[in-house]
Amino acid sequence: MQIIADLHIHSKYSRAVSQKMDLFEIAKSASVKGIQLVTTSDWTHPLWFRHIKDNLIEKNKGIYFLKQYPSVYFLLTTEISSIYTQGDKVRRIHNLIFSPLIETCEKVIKKLHGEGAKLMSDGRPIVGISSKDLLQMLLEIDENILLVPCHAWTPWFSLYGSKSGFDSIDECFGELSRHIYAIETGLSSDPIMNWQIKELENRSIISSSDAHSGPKLGREATVFVPKISNFEFRISNFTYNDIIGAIRQDAGAKLKIGYTIEFFPEEGKYHWSGHRACNIRYNALQVKEKGEICPICHRPLTIGVENRVLDLSQKILKNEDLLFLKNKAGLTFVYDKEKKRKPFVSLIPLLEILTEINDGSPTKALREYDGLTASLSSEFDILMRKSCEEIEKAGGEKLRQAIEIVRDRKVFVDPGYDGVFGQVKIFKSDEKTTSKTGAKEKQQTLF
Ligand SMILES: [Zn+2]
Ligand SMILES: [Zn+2]
Repeated sequence: MQIIADLHIHSKYSRAVSQKMDLFEIAKSASVKGIQLVTTSDWTHPLWFRHIKDNLIEKNKGIYFLKQYPSVYFLLTTEISSIYTQGDKVRRIHNLIFSPLIETCEKVIKKLHGEGAKLMSDGRPIVGISSKDLLQMLLEIDENILLVPCHAWTPWFSLYGSKSGFDSIDECFGELSRHIYAIETGLSSDPIMNWQIKELENRSIISSSDAHSGPKLGREATVFVPKISNFEFRISNFTYNDIIGAIRQDAGAKLKIGYTIEFFPEEGKYHWSGHRACNIRYNALQVKEKGEICPICHRPLTIGVENRVLDLSQKILKNEDLLFLKNKAGLTFVYDKEKKRKPFVSLIPLLEILTEINDGSPTKALREYDGLTASLSSEFDILMRKSCEEIEKAGGEKLRQAIEIVRDRKVFVDPGYDGVFGQVKIFKSDEKTTSKTGAKEKQQTLF
């Protein structure tokens, strides 16, 4: 039994989010995707919090559901943006806050009000409280509140961000660092990059979608499994403490993180460095050669995640340090050689695969997506578990081929930079991709 969880998304009360994003839309999208556990998100927002309290029913301690979608479980996480000055530098850090209960949320909200936070203005409020003071405040309210720095590598708004972050967890959280049990990788980095960082060696890595609309749910996710394989575990039984116990790697935890589901990191919009407006895009090597100043506008480049990770890495993992193992369906799981870390899989969302197969037609792709997820199974089942025969029967030969290529990790990538999403393609043929991006595609050969 597995729990596929998406622990960081947004409601319609956050900026730039689809107006459809209420709890019902979230639950519906989660069940189509095959997500068992999703966050309510945004619980500091007064109107959204009322929607949560009016509709969610407690299932187990800290785990909630909607009457209309009894097999999708909710947990309470919310994102807070801290903007403050530390060491003469402006810091902008986003943190994900896990709350054990609705009653705990109420206490946090009251405290934030007292600090003058404007909670009505956005589902992801901005506060002037430092990350460390925020953590201190939360732990005083309830020691089972968890704080996880989110999308930890993006240049803006993150713990390790090149523009307004820190070089280490210690620098950001000081003596409270021991309460940081995990970081969220974000779309532009994958676990391998994070395995290179010494201070993350004994910490968990979680992945989530940060979705702003239903279809984007689960584009990254964290999968929880029973800690002991023969443990009689029923999916209807888990509690908030089981989930955070897994993230904290508590000795007595019933669950553990089994693996994470990732984007190909090149698809993220800050993988490489550059300037979007100046049409300058550098990989890490080019940054080393040409420097960090833009040759067009002479301002500092937006240093991407690949570069930033290299700067902070204590070791560099190569292909021979990794292990590639397949499940029955042929899906590749990437491990470190010693199997000390949790493995991961890299996927392309089914709708993107269908769009490529249908020559870019979103209408056809959406029709096929709806058909497949209604007749065959959930999206994650199709991408990760269904046999090639079943996929071909339901979706045709081209879809089988495409999913096999993704499972083999043999996709073509064209990395994103300075806010521009990268492109990941399954079939090489079309010249359009190459000319549109002006870049030569390369085969993703697993580093
Ligand atoms: Zn977010
Ligand atoms: Zn420039």
